[in-house]
Amino acid sequence: MPRKTRMSAKSQCISLDENIFMAREQGELLLTRADGTRIVLSSVRRDNMKILVIGSGGREHAIVWKLRQSAAVEKIWCAPGNGGISKDADCVALDLNDLKGTADLASKLGADLTIVGPELTLAHGIADEFAKRGLALLGPPQKAAQLEGSKVFAKKFMERFRIPTASTYGIYDSPIDAYTSLCSVDWPLVVKADGLCAGKGVLVTSSPDEAAAFIDRLMEKNEFGDAGKQVLFEEGLAGRELSYIILMDGKNFVSLAPTRDHKRAFDNDQGPNTGGMGAFSNADILPPELEIKILEAIVRPTLAGLQEEGLNYCGFLYFGLMLTSEGPKVLEYNCRLGDPETQAILLRADFDFADACARAVRGDLASVQAKSSNGASICVVVASEGYPEKPKIGNEILGLEAAESVPGAVLFHAGTRREGEKYYTTGGRVLSVGAVGKDLPSACKIAYEAAGKIRIDGGHYRKDIGIPKPPLKAAAERPYG
Ligand code: ATP
Repeated sequence: MPRKTRMSAKSQCISLDENIFMAREQGELLLTRADGTRIVLSSVRRDNMKILVIGSGGREHAIVWKLRQSAAVEKIWCAPGNGGISKDADCVALDLNDLKGTADLASKLGADLTIVGPELTLAHGIADEFAKRGLALLGPPQKAAQLEGSKVFAKKFMERFRIPTASTYGIYDSPIDAYTSLCSVDWPLVVKADGLCAGKGVLVTSSPDEAAAFIDRLMEKNEFGDAGKQVLFEEGLAGRELSYIILMDGKNFVSLAPTRDHKRAFDNDQGPNTGGMGAFSNADILPPELEIKILEAIVRPTLAGLQEEGLNYCGFLYFGLMLTSEGPKVLEYNCRLGDPETQAILLRADFDFADACARAVRGDLASVQAKSSNGASICVVVASEGYPEKPKIGNEILGLEAAESVPGAVLFHAGTRREGEKYYTTGGRVLSVGAVGKDLPSACKIAYEAAGKIRIDGGHYRKDIGIPKPPLKAAAERPYG
């Protein structure tokens, strides 16, 4: 006769035969019925996690929003956070360049886990600082973060491991060599600054004059400091872009929902590149056979390469892909979640994100399934006047309550500051207006209705995020620049 055990699931008491349940490591109860089906009582938790989120953008607000939905989380801080995040988490002042200060803060707060949003902090080696002190942080060490921190490092890595990417014309340390090479490349050409430039270090152009002017800004005027000292020329690829992000625990990984970002400032992919003006996610952008190709040709060889080179990778790894007529090719790696992709991903995420992050740090992702809800999600970025070149800040943001009251709309704050009940702009990208729907048109309808209620003097947003685009023309006819 099996012994009966009583336990509490939320507030209810249930009686179970001892031999039909087992406690999973994380404190979940896994019930196996006589017929073999399994039920996970994920609301039964042992741990009350305290989590510190590093960053201040729409991505970090989405992370905080999702963490709040987890029964495993007791406390959330965000450093430095922003006006909107301060309503959902305790915001703590922090200089993001101060690695020691960040580790001191996590230690002082008693955070069980720190999740890092921005790339610069990772590229500077925050994971190494935390590891030195035995503090749990989700993010790769500095050496591995070079995949994002140096485009030259990433390109050479891809070449070593035969990962499909745009062909390289050259890597230059001197502006004279770079100008000279403009005579021997094919057009369109892509000019990339080696280091991190917050989305402004890449030019895709068919104009030699424009390319020369960009080289001048990077290498002679040093507009991006050391990040522009070395420059890479690569082939311009044509196709649709896709963001494919995985969460890694060092050996296992789970794939998050696929997303499509919109980099250009204006509708129909016009205007300068930005940090991202919106994103959407649905199953249509990644048919199963394409995902298999991405996994086989790109993701697995990347992970094998990391392992071979002793680059222990724990955290989010982002593959920025171009879906070309020759198959998917890597445009860039990022060593963290994307912004605004995260907003679209987490709106669809149908799993315990906090638990998955904690497991990734413990090297225990094998049993996690990162499921996404059916249907679609979208995120529309509302930007300040003048973004990306010269964003005007300090304007009052009106219509937030009206936007939030649109059924199904979720607002993630980025460049905002709160003064009592009033909000003011503090940066180029101000808000991400998100929504989920049974399909893309219904998600778009909700997000655009909400975005239309936001009023910022001179503010702008793209009206074509998630709107179906006509099929691409032949490669040679596709516009660039
Ligand atoms: P930064 O270093 O300034 O932060 P980034 O990391 O965003 O920039 P990439 O993602 O490499 O830079 O490039 C930005 C955008 O430029 C891509 O999303 C894509 O639209 C375009 N792009 C980059 N490389 C190519 C290429 N080889 N062919 C066509 N377009 C490209």
